[in-house]
Amino acid sequence: MLDFELARQRILAEVKPLAREFVSVDEADGRVLSEDLRSSVDLPPFDYSAMDGYALRAADFGGTGPWQLPVSAEQRAGGSGLALAAGTAARIFTGAPLPDGADSVVMQEDAERAGSDVTFRVAPKRGQHVRRRGEDLASGAIALGRGTRLNPFRLGLAAALDCATLPVTRRPRVALLCTGDELRDAGSAARPGSIPDSNGPSLAALARRAGADVRRLPRTGDDLAETRKALQSALAECDVLLTVGGVSVGDHDVVKAALAAEGVNIDFWKVKIKPGKPLAFGKRESAFVLGLPGNPVSAQLTLCLFGLPLLRALQGDNAAVPRAVEVKLASAIAQKPGRLGFYRARLVDGVAVVHENQASGAPTSMAQADLLVMIPEDSGGAAAGATVSALRLDDL
Ligand code: AMP
Ligand code: MG
Repeated sequence: MLDFELARQRILAEVKPLAREFVSVDEADGRVLSEDLRSSVDLPPFDYSAMDGYALRAADFGGTGPWQLPVSAEQRAGGSGLALAAGTAARIFTGAPLPDGADSVVMQEDAERAGSDVTFRVAPKRGQHVRRRGEDLASGAIALGRGTRLNPFRLGLAAALDCATLPVTRRPRVALLCTGDELRDAGSAARPGSIPDSNGPSLAALARRAGADVRRLPRTGDDLAETRKALQSALAECDVLLTVGGVSVGDHDVVKAALAAEGVNIDFWKVKIKPGKPLAFGKRESAFVLGLPGNPVSAQLTLCLFGLPLLRALQGDNAAVPRAVEVKLASAIAQKPGRLGFYRARLVDGVAVVHENQASGAPTSMAQADLLVMIPEDSGGAAAGATVSALRLDDL
């Protein structure tokens, strides 16, 4: 049995980022930059007024006030090419380029307009309410580094830098195969002993969130020939094959045998974690294969801990692996040493409250959790009030 970190490293060590493609800035949310985004313009692109008011030269405010100046021109947002005559003010609006010669803006609330003149009681500080060309980012600077996952804020910056398309790593293609004689679609007619396939929708959604294109394959029963057939076509056309269920040691667990028969090199198939011990990892040519256990919590957890980092690494994401946070425990956790334990917990007033049902087949524990509290494999647990490491479900 492999240690958690070692197992994850074994997977990530095999990864080379996928090919680059260009996508429109409107379509790039959640994608990962395949190269540094260097600014080819100054941001802002020209000096402009941050206020509605009057553009001036600070040097015109000698001696003591008040100062009365004629309003010689007007500049609105979108205008350009204006010069300010010495000893005059220009009416100006937010976003308008500063007229040549002007160096300061007084907001209109601090000005008294009478006819074609304007009076100021306080002298402006040179440069006030002026946003300087390049003050946010200079041309040539790196705006966003390669490996950055784009989000709405980063897309806003890219568009401000005049980028219409962005170089990103292509999405990994994921094929998802759920196995088990007992499974049927949620909402379909129940037969005795059957249960809805809850992993299919959940795991597909997780993989999509991590940026994958997910194809759900028709489910297979616990039959070797049927499973092999499903694997054949999937393996040929995906970057990552996820199988669910049938990877343990029961008489009807045919997935491992089917994978091996289809030429998948199984690297490991057990990890020292709880839940989620029976997790198979292998490769066939460039395709990665993760054989996830069928128990819903185990399936979700192993996909989050191993599969999503893999999907992110394939996209060149430089934050492929989630970082742990520290939390205080509301009550004690007892553990039989031997495997790294992941305990589902809610965050209540900043304290981790561990869910009462930690069974690996209990989907409520994940659905109602905010955190996975981690208890090291050699530990017998943690006391109430102890500070422990945890992963935030939102970060997975
Ligand atoms: P297995 O890994 O195939 O031994 O399955 C372990 C447990 O998970 C069994 O109780 C299965 O019924 C359940 N299970 C397997 N696959 C799914 C699925 N797709 N949705 C919900 N439960 C599942
Ligand atoms: Mg099964």
